[in-house]
Amino acid sequence: MSDKCVYGGKRKGERECPALGGMICSRCCGEHRGVEINCPPDCRYFKKHEEFQQTKHAESYRQTWAEKNQDLLEEENRELIEAIGVLETLIYYRYRDDTRLTDKKVINGLKGLENKFKTIELPGSPSEFTDFAHEELQPLLEKGRFSRELLKEAASRLITIAEDYTDDSRQLVQGVVGRIKEDYDLPAKDHESRTEEIESLITTPGQFNQGGPGPNR
Ligand SMILES: [Zn+2]
Repeated sequence: MSDKCVYGGKRKGERECPALGGMICSRCCGEHRGVEINCPPDCRYFKKHEEFQQTKHAESYRQTWAEKNQDLLEEENRELIEAIGVLETLIYYRYRDDTRLTDKKVINGLKGLENKFKTIELPGSPSEFTDFAHEELQPLLEKGRFSRELLKEAASRLITIAEDYTDDSRQLVQGVVGRIKEDYDLPAKDHESRTEEIESLITTPGQFNQGGPGPNR
């Protein structure tokens, strides 16, 4: 049996890669994990690296968020701030299901979502994230928790933050996931109903404090 790296085939494989079912060299693991390699969330190399990046980016993501939405924070526009938070939570959910989520997929998905909530939907390229988010938001629209107009505005705001924050790789995903993990008290495993979980994020009047996104800040 070859002891060469299962990904690059040149250097010696030195860590078990659960995604590829063999030994990978540390360099290929470092360069390709979570991008070309579909790492399972419980791989210890992936987990350690991701958690580090998420913590690192959460704070600067929050800063970009606040810079781009100074007006919302000043007006205490709770509704819109929460709607943006719900969209960010959907990014977190999507990431939990697919660790290969990239900034590009998120940004294209948000643009598709914004388009879906326009009065006249323009033809656009299909996006996995758009379909996922649209489906998750449907029950909340039906219950009247959000209006299409509000979600369109929230998507548009989040696109502005996202385009400013992305590094064209995964910095945005890591920043959003980091912030959501820190600012919201979400269970690590799937809730019985995501709709209920999302609804629990919508605060009641008075719970929201000015100064940053998220009910816990
Ligand atoms: Zn390699």
